[in-house]
Amino acid sequence: SRVWNFSAGPAVLPLPVLEQIREELTDWQGAGMGVMEMSHRGKAFTGIIEAAEADLRSLLGVPGNYRVLFLQGGATQQFAQIPLNLLGTGGDGSADYIVTGSWSKKAFGEAARFGRVRCAASTEADRFTRLPTAAEYAFDPAAAYVHLCTNETIHGVEFPAEVTMATPAPLVADMSSHLLSRPFDVSRFGLIYGGAQKNVGPAGLTLVIVRDDLLGKAAAHIPSVMDYAVMAANGSMLNTPPTFAIYAAGLVFKWLQAQGGLAGIAGVNAQKAALLYACIDGSGGFYRNNIAADCRSRMNVPFTLSDPALDAAFLADSQAAGLIGLKGHKSFGGMRASIYNALPLDGVRVLVDFMNDFAKRHG
Ligand code: PLP
Repeated sequence: SRVWNFSAGPAVLPLPVLEQIREELTDWQGAGMGVMEMSHRGKAFTGIIEAAEADLRSLLGVPGNYRVLFLQGGATQQFAQIPLNLLGTGGDGSADYIVTGSWSKKAFGEAARFGRVRCAASTEADRFTRLPTAAEYAFDPAAAYVHLCTNETIHGVEFPAEVTMATPAPLVADMSSHLLSRPFDVSRFGLIYGGAQKNVGPAGLTLVIVRDDLLGKAAAHIPSVMDYAVMAANGSMLNTPPTFAIYAAGLVFKWLQAQGGLAGIAGVNAQKAALLYACIDGSGGFYRNNIAADCRSRMNVPFTLSDPALDAAFLADSQAAGLIGLKGHKSFGGMRASIYNALPLDGVRVLVDFMNDFAKRHG
């Protein structure tokens, strides 16, 4: 009875994880209560959060000199929290932002409310259809950090796994929509963050992975709950953490281990993306994705129909076929298929069959 869910987020969770949650909802491992009802300071939950952190560290290969923080407020709160933490205790530093789509543009705009920021490169003039070339980056050698969004969820632009641009300052990456979809070299980044609700778990949890030397530089006036150093010193438990979301994320980490870790899931994700782009590119122009081939997202695939008058029929027919969440972002139009970790290869096969059939009927 489950639909094929192509929503950009909150998105599909692995079915075995949902089934385990259902199983444990009212009685977690004989505790006589579910995780939602437990004290975050108790032994049971302490074990859950410690295992979640250990599993995440091993999946991503997080080096020992990085803290893993389980926070709230979403990636949007991080847009403010990052400059508040990293521009110095007097807040007088400056940061560089790379603008490659709606989300990095938003992060740039929000950071400008809290400190001095500059745009180090933008592809907006090309409607965010590509990444900047090496020659286009103009970094400030004195920047406190360089911010980028490694996967633009709306425009469907993804940086390669190895982010190679040479920056003098630590890289700060919004990885909300492809965190855990492939291996990353964490040591290339000073800070990685993301809302959980795509590949990690339920909404309400925000992951921040931050290098030790970036802690303790927060502006003096910021709320303690927003200070990374305070949160790190308190094991993400200065206050009540999003316990249920952390528990569910922990189950997702175990599920990922069973898929062969990030290398394993990356292989499946590559197949899914290849199948879908081949369908689009092979449609004789009926479907189009105009993102440069070397930076097409493997997670979020926006596409348009050659005749927008067919959009409504495409959405109605796809929904009737059990394929949901395909409507493009309101700022972009057209369609978008988000094919996160928990969406199986079979789901993409069903989508591609539907798209081929729709094109045949209407082409
Ligand atoms: N950054 C990216 C890349 C996103 O995709 C999103 C949401 O889709 C956000 C930030 C905002 O995240 P949140 O809703 O968790 O604040």
